[in-house]
Amino acid sequence: MRYKIVAGNWKMNLNQNEAIQLTNDINQYLSNNNLPKQVKVAIHPPLPYLANCVNYISEKNNAVFGVGGQNCYTQTSGAYTGETSPEMLKDIGCQYVLIGHSERRKYFNESHAFLAEKVKKVLETGLTPIFCCGEQLDIREAGTHEAHVGAQLRESLFDLSKEDFSKIIIAYEPVWAIGTGVTASPEQAQDMHAALRQLIANQYDKDIAENTTILYGGSCKPANAASLFSQADVDGGLIGGASLKAESFTEIIGIMAKCLSA
Ligand code: PEP
Repeated sequence: MRYKIVAGNWKMNLNQNEAIQLTNDINQYLSNNNLPKQVKVAIHPPLPYLANCVNYISEKNNAVFGVGGQNCYTQTSGAYTGETSPEMLKDIGCQYVLIGHSERRKYFNESHAFLAEKVKKVLETGLTPIFCCGEQLDIREAGTHEAHVGAQLRESLFDLSKEDFSKIIIAYEPVWAIGTGVTASPEQAQDMHAALRQLIANQYDKDIAENTTILYGGSCKPANAASLFSQADVDGGLIGGASLKAESFTEIIGIMAKCLSA
């Protein structure tokens, strides 16, 4: 099902009080503002705060406001020191999990095959994977970005059945735009999102492609959210820095809602 999603990736930031306060503030905003039905909000706090953040979401907002992990492992349980299983995330009330963020690929050498295993396991567990993909600057400059991101999807996702593929969310995040203050132009974002949708249509079918939620991520903030979210194939954003403050994150949620009613 194609949703419009504003998801916050808090990365390794905030202390416990700040995490609770931020969750509370977003929850309050959602209690005071009725969003269009197809808009969802997610936060991805650091692992130690996840359960607490889940508990600060009011029942009324449960259907709109979800919590997700930033990562998980491929196994259910066992001797995997330091790892967290999708089952554990589900057990504490998470709905989503980020898979293959560029920082995981870069600092933890996560391969296409490993990410494919993770996606499969997350789906088996009943969580929604938000699969991150994107190219580095040199690849963009060489003009091979569509082939590069296409390969990331092909290698990690295209073994999935139609039914499983229809449950995932994709986040296109050009690496050169993450945390740099440089955003992809609305046209660059739209071109890549449309190319990915076409690739999905070729691999599966047009219906699956039309129903896949594809988010944009990379220095998205209130000043540029409207121009990005108004692109036909951009279904919202995965927000890093601007998700750490309630004012900017809720402003971006409001912009998403406005884009739908425009
Ligand atoms: C991210 O890390 O997913 C991200 C989009 O970060 P930022 O918004 O800070 O560029």
